Amino acid sequence: MSTLTPPFSDEHEELRQSVRGFIERELAPYAERWEEERWFPDEVFGKMAAQGLLGLKYPETYGGQGGDYLHEAVLCEEMARTGSGGTAAGIGAHINIATPPIGKFGSEEQKQRYLVPAIRGEKIGALAITEPGAGSDVASIATRAERVDGGWMLGGEKTYITNGVRAHFIVTAAKTTREGGHHGISFFIVDRGEGVSSSKLEKLGWHASDTATIAFQDVFVPEENLLGALNEGFKLIMANFQWERLAMALGAVGAMQIAWERTVEFARQRTAFGRPLSGHQAIRHKLADLATSVYTCRCVTYDALRRFVAGEEPLKEVTMAKLLTQRAAFELMDDCLQIHGGAGYMREYFIERAARDARLGPIGGGSDEIMREILGRALAL
Ligand SMILES: Cc1cc2nc3c(=O)[nH]c(=O)nc-3n(C[C@H](O)[C@H](O)[C@H](O)COP(=O)(O)OP(=O)(O)OC[C@H]3O[C@@H](n4cnc5c(N)ncnc54)[C@H](O)[C@@H]3O)c2cc1C
Repeated sequence: MSTLTPPFSDEHEELRQSVRGFIERELAPYAERWEEERWFPDEVFGKMAAQGLLGLKYPETYGGQGGDYLHEAVLCEEMARTGSGGTAAGIGAHINIATPPIGKFGSEEQKQRYLVPAIRGEKIGALAITEPGAGSDVASIATRAERVDGGWMLGGEKTYITNGVRAHFIVTAAKTTREGGHHGISFFIVDRGEGVSSSKLEKLGWHASDTATIAFQDVFVPEENLLGALNEGFKLIMANFQWERLAMALGAVGAMQIAWERTVEFARQRTAFGRPLSGHQAIRHKLADLATSVYTCRCVTYDALRRFVAGEEPLKEVTMAKLLTQRAAFELMDDCLQIHGGAGYMREYFIERAARDARLGPIGGGSDEIMREILGRALAL
């Protein structure tokens, strides 16, 4: 299936080929080991930076490539080819959720101190919003920052934070009024240091990534690390949600494409009752349905992406793309696993990991239920 579909041009297609080559050479061969080790090396950030892949959408003045969200979109889709959801998630958290608020709302000094080394792969970032007591209900976070001489004193706990162990800086949401909520949350860039401790969590999939709980105990944050306007943090959260969800949709489309291709290959090679699995009508029809699902998800995602890049505010389309693709990806992985039979249940086969990795999609970045709530409001239901 050709990937040269609007809104992408020949230039993006060239980027796709070079990104794909890099991933197949430098990342994919190690995916299994990193998943087993429950960690991918920090050096991967440096390797990607050397290829210009950590700053595709950032201006050249900060060491970026001067591209735009379409270039980044190519990378999001291709990262699925690492075959390690955890590695894609760690890199994705750095480029899609941790650095964008700094790129968009950071002061010149903050960009020099955090964005530039992040693009070079020298400093790794995380975004910390979720807490033990507040996930979907973002406005109810309890982490608190209180004014002290020269800055803020931060206290509280975050959880399920991607790159939560390895991150050098943590873009953190905290209450800056007693009430908190929509007009009482601010963002801070918190350096790892005194008072910051992390513990890694065990999880179903994404094994190569360090999802962690982070405790902030009397952490002094200097005044100049307030990110964006005081008490306007909710706006920062909202500002990047559309891109984060598009990035997830693109990642799902990439993962679905690969799973489909590899499952077709398997179905052609494996024989049962005297012919290849793909020679059985039930399997052929299932593969045809799955190809339709990949195509549908790609069309809906690319349409939302095209609108986003054109400067529309495609809340409905992005929300639909996130909702459709995450569940569809998990269902496709399950169907592909079924076609693999017992082999699909074995560690040895990629589909076992792909199915586990895909389960996060309907939960992270705004769950399916929250997507439906947003759509309900957008559709005035
Ligand atoms: C592997 C992983 C990585 C993550 N990485 C990050 C990260 O880097 N940074 C970060 O800040 N967060 C991160 N998260 C957190 C993620 O965004 C949250 O888990 C997600 O937003 C859901 O929040 P919750 O887990 O608290 O579930 P809850 O909000 O407690 O929801 C529980 C269930 O109730 C449903 N529900 C909630 N409200 C409603 C409602 N109004 N109507 C109907 N149903 C509802 C939810 O959809 C869900 O099914 C990560 C999570 C995971 C698992």
